[in-house]
Amino acid sequence: MTHEQQLLKERLERIEKRIEAACIRSGRNRNDVKIIAVTKYVDGDTIGDLLEIGVKNIGENRVQDALPKHERWGQRGIWHFIGHLQTNKVKEVIGRFTYVHSLDRLSLAEEINKRGQALNIVVPCFLQVNISGEETKFGLSPNDVLAFLRETSNMKHIRIAGLMTMAPHVEDPEEARPVFKGLREWMERINEEQFPHAEITELSMGMSNDFEVAIEEGATYIRLGSVLVKPD
Ligand SMILES: *Cc1c(COP(=O)(O)O)cnc(C)c1O
Repeated sequence: MTHEQQLLKERLERIEKRIEAACIRSGRNRNDVKIIAVTKYVDGDTIGDLLEIGVKNIGENRVQDALPKHERWGQRGIWHFIGHLQTNKVKEVIGRFTYVHSLDRLSLAEEINKRGQALNIVVPCFLQVNISGEETKFGLSPNDVLAFLRETSNMKHIRIAGLMTMAPHVEDPEEARPVFKGLREWMERINEEQFPHAEITELSMGMSNDFEVAIEEGATYIRLGSVLVKPD
């Protein structure tokens, strides 16, 4: 194992302990929480190191930066597109990335559905919901979620697998708790409606500074960038 891989492994082990503790505190099964390594800060070599030490999920948020990395490592790992997705970039993303975490508007759903049809696949998507209501954040307003699901229910090449949110950047992660709790409540609310294309089981929430609180509130995918890959 190289020195770089050793350092990443130690970081991952420290994170792992924190995840386990959060699972125990909230009575959750460790296997129900998956780490997405967000690799936007690092180059392809580090992605290779992460895969080598056993990381399975890779998250990227910019198409142009992600494509060469995916070209090199795409056959290994499960790739998640987590950033804002422009409609004209859908062609590059669908077919390469398994999951899209940032479905936030009808025009994007139509484009993903069209591309899914061309490739004859069903694309698992996360609906990005702007729970905090911050104007700077992308995502559907919670009030628009049910209408969005009605309008997409005939799109055969999209499956809504989960919900995603970005919490506000706050000093004390406890302040983000209502946002995570809010996303979980929306999942329950949506599932009551029994949309055939939206039996939601996944919650993509929690980043480096607030993942423990997100786990306590039900996160199934945590998106970890700096805590995992940024040098001290
Ligand atoms: C950058 C990014 C992350 C990871 O952020 P960290 O705070 O570095 O862990 C998670 N989700 C999205 C959508 C991001 O763009």
